[in-house]
Amino acid sequence: AKAAGRNVYRFYTEALTIAAQERLALETALRRALERNELVLHYQPVVAVASGYTTGVEALVRWRHPADGLVSPLRFIPMAEETGLIVPLGIWVLEEACRQGRAWLDGGRVMPIAVNISSRQFADGALVDTVRRVLDRSGFPASMLTLELTESAIMHKPDQAVRVLEELKAIGVKFSIDDFGTGYSSLAYLKRFPVDALKIDRSFVADIVDDENDRMIVSTVVAMARQLQLSVIAEGVETAEQLAFLTRLGCSACQGYLFGHPLEAGELDFG
Ligand code: C2E
Ligand code: CA
Ligand code: CA
Ligand code: CA
Repeated sequence: AKAAGRNVYRFYTEALTIAAQERLALETALRRALERNELVLHYQPVVAVASGYTTGVEALVRWRHPADGLVSPLRFIPMAEETGLIVPLGIWVLEEACRQGRAWLDGGRVMPIAVNISSRQFADGALVDTVRRVLDRSGFPASMLTLELTESAIMHKPDQAVRVLEELKAIGVKFSIDDFGTGYSSLAYLKRFPVDALKIDRSFVADIVDDENDRMIVSTVVAMARQLQLSVIAEGVETAEQLAFLTRLGCSACQGYLFGHPLEAGELDFG
């Protein structure tokens, strides 16, 4: 039994070492990707249910890997968070989104953009200055920029979060709570934050047609949002049937493959 235990232990440490090596390799590669400008933003429309118009887009980062092709953010964002690389990466994302937003404006298209901000970026003391600087340099209006934050990013240190949000609010940017419903926000907490919108997590939308509970959650969130004068965006809308339910439940804006996949700026069709 002892020998077996030792083997298990050795296997375990070897596995850890391999994981650590892979992570280090990925980190080095991502660092280089940033320098070599291999990252690219795709944009997914957010559509107003009543009019069918695109009211804005969400910027989603991808890595155009020279050998592996387009790499999903799910493969590198968590690692970037852990290593802190998310901070320079996040600055690049903000700069690129604002540059694109300004280019759209110069072409006569008013297109608000939402950018994802991860917990580590939000906790980084320089975020307010970064946002101010990027907006100044790009000439993209603050009022057209939304920062998407998760519940956990805010709830980790709520008092500090309120201060950061108030400072950013003073600049003029907007906020939405991403993946809403998956975290632990309470109504009482939400009221403390200067938030503009809630994004209902895709997991609730996925089963909305079949699952009575999910329908109830969505309708509660919509009612609550109305009380707090927040807008609601349903994420991951893939079918007309889901859209019908969401509309009936009072949801005013949707995002998902039904309306459009995330695409490069040049490939977007605003209808
Ligand atoms: P998220 O912020 O919740 O973004 C929505 C994700 O759902 C995107 O995945 C989008 O492509 C996908 N999606 C949109 N519509 C549908 C649909 O109808 N069905 C399904 N199944 N999926 C849909 P993506 O682009 O792979 O991004 C994954 C996550 O990576 C994002 O989740 C976000 O948390 C993170 N992420 C992406 N870009 C950035 C970034 O620039 N900065 C940071 N910090 N995180 C990012
Ligand atoms: Ca998001
Ligand atoms: Ca989301
Ligand atoms: Ca997410």
